[in-house]
Amino acid sequence: MAGIYIHIPFCKQACHYCNFHFTTSLRYKNELLAALLKELVLQKDYPGINPVRSVYFGGGTPSLLDLADINQLLSSISTHFRLDPDAEITLEANPDDITTEKLAGWKSAGINRLSIGIQSFFQEDLQWMNRAHTAVQATGNLELALRYFSNITIDLIYGTPGLTHEKWEQNVKKAIALGIPHLSCYALTVEPKTPLDKLIRNEQYEPISPDQQSEQFLLLMKWMKEAGYEHYEISNFAKPGMRSRHNSAYWQNQSYLGIGPAAHSYNGKERQWNISNNNSYIHSINQGIVPFEKEILTETQQLNEYIMTSLRTSEGLDTRNIPGKYRPVLEAAAKKYLDSGLLQQVRDHLVLTNEGKLLADGIAAALFF
Ligand code: SF4
Repeated sequence: MAGIYIHIPFCKQACHYCNFHFTTSLRYKNELLAALLKELVLQKDYPGINPVRSVYFGGGTPSLLDLADINQLLSSISTHFRLDPDAEITLEANPDDITTEKLAGWKSAGINRLSIGIQSFFQEDLQWMNRAHTAVQATGNLELALRYFSNITIDLIYGTPGLTHEKWEQNVKKAIALGIPHLSCYALTVEPKTPLDKLIRNEQYEPISPDQQSEQFLLLMKWMKEAGYEHYEISNFAKPGMRSRHNSAYWQNQSYLGIGPAAHSYNGKERQWNISNNNSYIHSINQGIVPFEKEILTETQQLNEYIMTSLRTSEGLDTRNIPGKYRPVLEAAAKKYLDSGLLQQVRDHLVLTNEGKLLADGIAAALFF
């Protein structure tokens, strides 16, 4: 069981906070698409990849692709991999790209899940983030998408300086009221060398308040629970039966194959990542070589990977997956967090409490071997 991720490294404009790999120039789009198709063939024997239970078009902005491009990529996956007929096939879409024609086309191509980058329903927040879409498009085109797709997830961002708790509540409750079955909610992070980082350093933008972020995360958990969503991963909430199959595979330590520049692959023992440069990627693929770096994970690195990902999930860390010789070390490290109420023991599982979720990365690091 595994998933394929396809990275589409093009965007209309650069959001201030973004540190993903993308370019705003579409000059080499056709060459890059040809390279993606070639990489699919070069990677068809990636260990553990079949059967493919999910495909995820991420980026960048996959909704910038033409329908023919999506059809070609999916057809190549069907040809070279054992694609489950019931596979979850997600396309990330930005609200400004959504039209009736595109929605109908995506559906006919076999896309069965949309991930829409709403971020906020307020115009001033979208402008602050330098998003390409407007608040009118966020609402209008989300409603339009709901006429074609029932399986929709939206991204929302909290902890931005202009986002009061009242506005945050309106954003979340609007998504709930619209019946969106899955939400991914992220605290704004200021990544080094992003435009946001520079704007804050130059005092043109207010700095981020960690307290505001913590409060908004706690509020979010409360509202989502009241609305009947499962908080199944730190940043992800789903109505029963609507969890993301693709992302769940990441969190369950399953294999995935990443296609495209900057895409990562993982098979439990090795992690590899493609070069983050479109021209070098295209050039290398055209020579028949996938340009990646690889790390072979030691036993403790594999266990730490498991600790990191499993602790972020509602099921938590299953201690039965930790070999006996390591368990006393884990138990000793976990005791402090169990005593302080940041972790709880649920049968054989260590699960973060709501307060613990605020410190998830730090707690996971403290449990590392
Ligand atoms: S649309 Fe997404 S990938 Fe593109 S710049 Fe904005 S956040 Fe980054």
